[in-house]
Amino acid sequence: MSEQTRFQNVVNGTKCDSTTGRWLASTNPFTGKTWAEVPHCGVEDANAAVEAAHRAFIRGPWSTMSATGRGKLLRRLGDLIARDAEKLAAIETRDNGKLFAEMSGQCRYIPEWFYYFGGLADKIEGGVLPMDKPDLFSYTKREPLGVVVAITPWNSPLLLLTWKLAPALAAGNTIVIKPSEYTSCSTLALMELVNEAGFPEGVINTVTGFGHEIGPALTEHPMVAKIAFTGGDATGAAIYAGAAKGLKHVTLELGGKSPNIIFADANIDDAVKGAISGIFAASGQTCIAGSRLLVQRSVYDEISAKVVNFARAARLGDPMDANTQVGPVTTLPQRDKILNYMAIAREEGARCLLGGGTPQDPALEAGWFVQPTIFGDVSNDMRIAREEVFGPILSIIPFEDEEHAIEIANDTIYGLASGVWTSNIRRAFTMADRIRAGTVWVNTYRAVSFMAPFGGYKMSGIGRESGQYAIDEYLQTKCVWINLAEGVANPFVLR
Ligand code: NAD
Repeated sequence: MSEQTRFQNVVNGTKCDSTTGRWLASTNPFTGKTWAEVPHCGVEDANAAVEAAHRAFIRGPWSTMSATGRGKLLRRLGDLIARDAEKLAAIETRDNGKLFAEMSGQCRYIPEWFYYFGGLADKIEGGVLPMDKPDLFSYTKREPLGVVVAITPWNSPLLLLTWKLAPALAAGNTIVIKPSEYTSCSTLALMELVNEAGFPEGVINTVTGFGHEIGPALTEHPMVAKIAFTGGDATGAAIYAGAAKGLKHVTLELGGKSPNIIFADANIDDAVKGAISGIFAASGQTCIAGSRLLVQRSVYDEISAKVVNFARAARLGDPMDANTQVGPVTTLPQRDKILNYMAIAREEGARCLLGGGTPQDPALEAGWFVQPTIFGDVSNDMRIAREEVFGPILSIIPFEDEEHAIEIANDTIYGLASGVWTSNIRRAFTMADRIRAGTVWVNTYRAVSFMAPFGGYKMSGIGRESGQYAIDEYLQTKCVWINLAEGVANPFVLR
């Protein structure tokens, strides 16, 4: 391996390897070959990154910079990401095997978050309080929390990092990033742009390595004020428990088992495309995957047949190729997990309508592919309908009427996203009201925006990312009291 394929962390503005001297391989899921290495950090590295972020938060120039100055830096970073979007996307595809078309779309869109939150940075306002005590003048200030640890998963590393980074920086916090051990390279490449943009040292630091090795050192460190996490619900719950010991703030973006609901009155061809994009885009490795397709009984056979035909025609292949529609899955353990769920579904009596294993094509042999897979006659109590698979497996579940659809849709521990396909306006609004999920899409699926709050109900998480209110997740309120009276009042009574 040449030195050029080694990425380094950045701590306190300086590039560094790990103190352990070890490296972690990053493997291309299409070729099965290692293409890069990142530092395999230990607890000492994690501590150093937190301490650097803490110093940068306490001392200037970041803490003394105007909010307008912070906003300009964010917008400059957005410009640099726009310039290098294709380069960053190619790194992501090599790291996680998702389609270059998908990753480059994400990387070209990421600058919008930096522009939006860069613009918000100097619009964070406190207020003067009306006061019932005439001798006291009170006002509020909204202040940053301190050091934020941002922990990201492997499926969309830079996009999900941006959802944390942009509002956290706009609010004036400093950051330690812990990317997934499988897909750290794009985050470390981004640090070149952070440096070029001119962020002061220590404001953004990175530490790479295994979550179970360095995670607790980061999330339970006394100098850390907040953890912004995206990942699985078991990891999220463990982080939440650890954070509770130090009463740290958290944002948790976790998993889902999202219902995508097709009524008989929907435009059927659009709904079929919506079902496909809900699950087979990104090989199902997306938290918002519409993995439960709820179909009204009267159109169940027609829709099932159309979805199967559409999915059967999907082109598997090299994710860098613009003609490929389904790439490999990101990791070998993930492929094993997906194949295991296929076996569980069969054992539980679901009918396999398509796929159900690995593809036979020799051109795909080196890659970690699984076939787009569809199970019919799934009942909502089967594990395939209850547990997050994070792969290209669709479960089709029949329902009778609106009430029944709601009952099935909400019968899950999750509540991240949902889709409703109908041409009935009353039904669209009613479903949007009654589905217990952070996002409801009507006659579309998988739309996100820097302007729109995103997050989960129930076990899908706590807090919201994107949209104006996301910045509140990185601020705390201070109330200042100024005595206008002469002298000090009786010290033994509450003023
Ligand atoms: P994961 O929970 O295994 O890992 C996520 C991150 O947490 C990684 O960086 C990992 O190293 C780190 N980690 C692991 N153990 C840790 C610990 N004890 N302390 C601190 N950090 C630790 O998730 P994953 O497999 O990388 O990603 C897939 C999951 O992410 C799916 O469940 C998916 O639904 C979820 N996800 C959610 C969203 C969302 O916005 N809601 C978006 C994408 C993915």
